[in-house]
Amino acid sequence: MVHVVTQSCCNDAGCVTACPANAIHPTPDEPGFATAEMLYIDPSTCIDCGACIDECPVDAIFPETELNAKGERYLAINAAYYTDHPSAADTRGPAESREPSMAKTSPERTLRVAIVGAGPAGFYAAEELLRHPGVEVDMFDRSPTPYGLVRAGVAPDHPSTKGVERAFASIAASTSFRYLLNVEVGKHVMHADLTSRYGAVIYSSGASTDNRLGISGEDLAGSIPATDFVAWYNGHPDNADDTFDLSVHTAVVVGNGNVALDVARILVTDVEALAKTDIADHALAALAESRVREVQIVGRRGIAQAAYTNSEFLALSDLPGVDVVIDPSELTLDPSTASAFDDRTLDSTIMTKISLARAVAGRRPTARNKRVVFRYLLSPTEIRGANGVSALACVRNEFTGSPSGSVTSTADLSVVDCGLVMRAIGYRGRPIDCLPFDTSRSVVPNDQGRVLSEPAGETIAGVYVAGWIKRGASGGIGMNKRCGQETATSVLADFANDRLTMPTMSHHDLEELIAARGGTPVGSLGWLNIDRAERAAGARRGRRRVKIVRTDDLLRAAAR
Ligand code: NAP
Repeated sequence: MVHVVTQSCCNDAGCVTACPANAIHPTPDEPGFATAEMLYIDPSTCIDCGACIDECPVDAIFPETELNAKGERYLAINAAYYTDHPSAADTRGPAESREPSMAKTSPERTLRVAIVGAGPAGFYAAEELLRHPGVEVDMFDRSPTPYGLVRAGVAPDHPSTKGVERAFASIAASTSFRYLLNVEVGKHVMHADLTSRYGAVIYSSGASTDNRLGISGEDLAGSIPATDFVAWYNGHPDNADDTFDLSVHTAVVVGNGNVALDVARILVTDVEALAKTDIADHALAALAESRVREVQIVGRRGIAQAAYTNSEFLALSDLPGVDVVIDPSELTLDPSTASAFDDRTLDSTIMTKISLARAVAGRRPTARNKRVVFRYLLSPTEIRGANGVSALACVRNEFTGSPSGSVTSTADLSVVDCGLVMRAIGYRGRPIDCLPFDTSRSVVPNDQGRVLSEPAGETIAGVYVAGWIKRGASGGIGMNKRCGQETATSVLADFANDRLTMPTMSHHDLEELIAARGGTPVGSLGWLNIDRAERAAGARRGRRRVKIVRTDDLLRAAAR
């Protein structure tokens, strides 16, 4: 019997360290790790000990005997990875080299670190810092609730992924950890307030804005960033009053990354199924009235270049009452991919992507079901409509030949009638006050998390970044583990080597300072009260939690 990694894999690689047989790959030290869709267990090496199951924060690993029908497909997906990646050979270094490097700290000196942004990257950095005696962490977030995109981004119908919150809660339970939630840096606390009170400041504030298509009609009513829709259905206070016209028959989602698939899935999922999740009540009510019957997902490149992961494609193609439709003529491969596919030398993940799409393209859609239509090789050129969106005009693309997978537009125009266009074309970081910004990559320039005056410039002592604002908006939750650890390791090394200026002011006056600037910080107890209130409301209604979505209500719950 072997163990199998399934859909909710978060790539945090805790399982890799736990596995005594080196059966889980790619490891963080292997080249494919940064771009891997998920981790895979080698069926020929797995010794069936189950150590990985205990380590997985998102319940993604099962013994093969406990897989359900949906999970069984992951047996082949795990095995396929080892068709083009060397297996059994131990690619790890000696055991100690796999441990994150432990920088020298001395117990008699205290290092106080401010982390701005309570999402995954901030937590993984905090976890690494708090392994060291003498380190204290204060975590700030402008929202009254922690966990960043785990709370406000992960789709409500993916509850196992949210299991990672348990790991974050245990980090926050450390006596050396303090929350200062509902505190906006730049408004209630300034950057200089932090640098004068903390030895190091880590910004892990994410990529909070959306990319723009730059085409005409983009600002028509009914043309919206998917990021707003995601924040709305996840109950983010900023989006609690948003409204979306769901009285339309067809919606188009531009872009085919996992965000595109998330919003498409939420638009067509049966509301009775959504009612069991922690989706915001206002979204559930609006989706119950929705008339959307068809969602088209428009990708500008071919199937082999589709940005979604195979597990998210499977999650969508499994939805009851929904037909996934693909026109086989759109599954064209560029010449080099086609020949590598035919002689089976193509990357196994892309092989699987193509095979899954071809299998779906053979399905016969029903008239009764809602539909999700995957379109490939189409680029939007104009969003049309008088007072609101009525159509999306696109041009067909063709492969240029070189570099492999790149496309150029043709004169072949097609128009999709639709009442809603969601732009799911990626997130972008925003400049942070007092920090340099690399506008070409929308990140803060840095070297292993140390903020630089400009790309390849001088280090700014004591200031760091982690997560999407450090490396750009790509990678799921677990990718932030290595990223957060790297930044924490830089902080610890700088501390050990006396490169940090020790604070000139006490951090104990911060709450007073915040209050004087009109802020109401929510601490650990406040968050615990919110969490309890949401879970209790959820338990009463057979749901994981019922989210409180307005800041005033959150603050009332926190104070209770
Ligand atoms: P993404 O994966 O980068 O996908 C962006 C999509 O937008 C791509 O299809 C891209 O096409 C397309 N695009 C970009 N600019 C475009 C333009 N001007 N015109 C047309 N299409 C354009 O971004 P994302 O979906 O926002 O996801 C961000 C990260 O979060 C990803 O790493 C994703 O895997 C992760 N995430 C994971 C999950 C999950 O694990 N369930 C859920 C949500 C998000 P090209 O590929 O041609 O550039």
